[in-house]
Amino acid sequence: MSASSESFQAILDSLYHKYKGLTDGKVASYIPELAKMNPNWFSICVVTADGRTFVTGDAEQFFTIQSISKVFVYGLALEEHGREAVLAKVGVEPTGDPFNSIIRLDEYSKRPDNPMINAGAIATTSLIKGKGATERLNRMLDMFRCYVGHDVYIDMSVFVSERSSGHRNRAMASLMRHFGMIDDRMDESLDLYFQQCSMMVNCRDLATMAATLANRGINPLTGERAVPSRYIRDILSVMYTCGMYNFAGQWAYTVGIPAKSGVSGGIIAIVPRQVGIAVFSPLLDAHGSSVRGIKVCEELSRQFELHMFDPP
Ligand code: GLU
Repeated sequence: MSASSESFQAILDSLYHKYKGLTDGKVASYIPELAKMNPNWFSICVVTADGRTFVTGDAEQFFTIQSISKVFVYGLALEEHGREAVLAKVGVEPTGDPFNSIIRLDEYSKRPDNPMINAGAIATTSLIKGKGATERLNRMLDMFRCYVGHDVYIDMSVFVSERSSGHRNRAMASLMRHFGMIDDRMDESLDLYFQQCSMMVNCRDLATMAATLANRGINPLTGERAVPSRYIRDILSVMYTCGMYNFAGQWAYTVGIPAKSGVSGGIIAIVPRQVGIAVFSPLLDAHGSSVRGIKVCEELSRQFELHMFDPP
């Protein structure tokens, strides 16, 4: 991305002011804890692969990471089991169905379609190794710590409400257990999935996590490796094809970079070897992605010609 630091900061500030007044969309309300989020929260943060940070808006405001966690847990499963073993359990095929779709989990499908839909994410989480719930949780938190560069915590109220209201996720897990897609640690794995969704981050953290992927797995702020570089290709490929719910095709067409969104309003986008971008604004469109987040990424992509198929 070619712009001086001052002009890049000015561009982020002007995007912030341009879209601050956009109030389309709705805050997620499937659990009361998320409905409490302030619809005005808005932040854009960019961390470069060489460790420069640009922030605007409410960059320190904490929220739960939700579906964006799926990307990183997929990386951990790849690291622990290798590509072939993970592929045997979770596919890499986009579905075009909503993220919580249950329709393809039947006796004919051997595995969930991809790790970005809930079924595939639960199956991915079920692969995380460890003796018992605490060891597996600590392994996951430690992985997240490497990406953000500091300790991470779980929002207990969100976790408890995800867990007590997650009937659909539980139904999917039961079906997958029935068909042998996940092992008999089902309840423990579901808890782990609800915990990963309830991890607290702010927009600055998300951009650092995205920049770590852009920097081939090394956190550019700490120099610590978060995931082996050989899995970056796998992670970014599923983000590119499946990361934006059932808007993934349109996103690939218009924005053209790997990304992942979550129902609390975060979006991360990665320009390999260059930058990690994060936007946070809880007002969501019908697909479940942040309305302002999409606008900001579209503009950044257009302005800096970030689309993967833009001419070099
Ligand atoms: N905790 C949410 C669920 O599993 C995550 C949804 C999301 O961010 O897409 O339903």
